[in-house]
Parts: sequence; structure tokens; C-alpha cells
Amino acid sequence: MEQLGSLQAMLRRSAAQRAQGLRIGLIPTMGFLHEGHLALVDRIRPHVDRVWLSIFVNPAQFGPAEDLDRYPRDRERDLALCAARGVDGVFLPVAAEVYPPGHQTWVTPGPVAERYCGASRPGHFRGVLSIVQRLFRWTNCTHAVFGAKDAQQLWLIKRMTKDLELGVQILESPTIREADGLAMSSRNVFLGPEERMAAPALQVSLKQGAEALRAGETPGRALEQMRQQLARTPLIELEYLHVADWKTLASLAGEPRVRDWEADQDGAVREELILLAAVRIGRTRLIDNLRIKLKDLQ
Ligand code: AMP
Repeated sequence: MEQLGSLQAMLRRSAAQRAQGLRIGLIPTMGFLHEGHLALVDRIRPHVDRVWLSIFVNPAQFGPAEDLDRYPRDRERDLALCAARGVDGVFLPVAAEVYPPGHQTWVTPGPVAERYCGASRPGHFRGVLSIVQRLFRWTNCTHAVFGAKDAQQLWLIKRMTKDLELGVQILESPTIREADGLAMSSRNVFLGPEERMAAPALQVSLKQGAEALRAGETPGRALEQMRQQLARTPLIELEYLHVADWKTLASLAGEPRVRDWEADQDGAVREELILLAAVRIGRTRLIDNLRIKLKDLQ
């Protein structure tokens, strides 16, 4: 397995691979890898000739009061996991080279980046899109894969790839969960034993929301039931709970019950909705979501 740190070395290597006609797959990560990341390797493998995984804890996507300094890191373990999973190359950029003195140019996402996670993390998606766009360039990737767990990120990256015509095929990979339903996350290591026991309530709540919609509740009423259930769960502090159209990420909270829905403002038929949630458990912030095909609700 190859390992490259410098941006120039990565550019040269990837340009040479593309010149040979190879398809390059990129998996952007912040490291401290778990099965959720490694499943992305399996997802992209059949589509490409070389799989590159990047590890970079991107300071630009962390707010001043966030956990950049304590974000978990374990370089040696990550490299061993990548090698065992058949990754061809690991790209390890360093912040001093990515953000040299004087750096000041960014990708500005559209209004969808200000909702949901963007409302509680101002500037977060600007940091994410900017680094992803540069990772695409350094690695010359033809394909890249992102997890459904970070749904708003996935949506914004698909949007950016279209809007800036980056020519990269974006693949999506389903959320990988622990046996009790908690979505795998590098941040789960921060949970103390009692917090860890409380954490699966997030996914339980999303499932209950889906059930309520299926039973004919309005989206507003389903969200209210979810809020009440989470409020009863010890240690969990709700940050946001929303229901949105997956095509546009527009909120559907004010809509009537699903079976009475009409086309959206643009006249498009709604196909899939998404329940989105973020909570805090102690000092740890967790997000999760559930996508539901409308035909499964009607
Ligand atoms: P991160 O290291 O948290 O930036 O995540 C890197 C990539 O892995 C992103 O595309 C995430 O959506 C994806 N990912 C993280 N956790 C999971 C999970 N539990 N299931 C699926 N994908 C995940």
C-alpha cells in the first residue's frame, strides 16, 4: 500500500495513474477508522482500478468551540486497517501545506448548507466542500464515495459536483450501525458507559417518526412525538429534528399527512423523504437520519 503526504507527490502520482487510463476512487475521511469507513472501500472497489483513502482532520470544518484538538487520531491503526481492506494508497495531507499563510479562497455552498447541521455549525459545510473539491483535484479521482450517515454532506457534495462540473462520479454507501442500532462514528469513543447506553435512542426515535408517518400522522405531529420521546430519554439533549424532501432538502414540517401530499413548488413529484436528527450526549454530538421512500408510506 502506498502512502503519500505531500500535495505535489499526490498530484504527480494521480496524474500518472490517470495517464495510464486508470479509474481512481477516493474515500475522504478524518481517520480513526471504523467499519463505516471500511464499508466505503468495498462500495467503491468494483467501480475503479485504484482505491485511495485520504485521512485529514480538516481544521476549516470545525468551529472555534468544537472538538478539533480532541478529535481521535490513530495513524498506525488506520494504516493497518486500510492495508487489510485492500486500499491501494493512503493520502495524508498536512494542515500546514493545505492552509499555508495567506490562503483565503473557499467554495461557498448554497442555502441548503445553512440548515440542519449548518445552522448549529456555521461555516462547517464551506470547510467540507472546499477540502473535498481540493481532494478531488489532488487525487485526480474519477469516483468518490460518501456515507449516507452524513446525509446533508452527501447532498451538498453531489450538488457541488454538478454545479462546478467536477466530473467525479459520486457514490453513496449505506449507514453502518452497531448491533444496537447506533450509527458508527469516530466520536462514539467519547461516550461514557451510561452515555453509550442512551445513544441508540436516537435511531429508535427516527424509526418511531417513520412509523408515525406511516400511521397517517402529519410530519409536524410525527416530529412532536419524536421530540417527546427524546425528552424522556436521560442524558440526551436534542439539537435538531427535521423532516425534509430528499431531492431538495426543503423542510416538510408544515405539510399535511403524507397521503394528502401534492407535488412540490416546482411541480416535481416527491419520491423520498428524510428524517434528520442531531443530539448531544454529554460533550459528544451525534447525528443520524432515516430515508423513507414515499411509496412505502402510502
Ligand atoms: P468522517 O471520517 O467522519 O469524515 O467520515 C468519512 C466518510 O465516512 C464520510 O463519507 C462519512 O459519511 C462516512 N461514514 C462515517 N461513518 C459512517 C457510517 N457509520 N456508515 C456509513 N458511512 C460512514
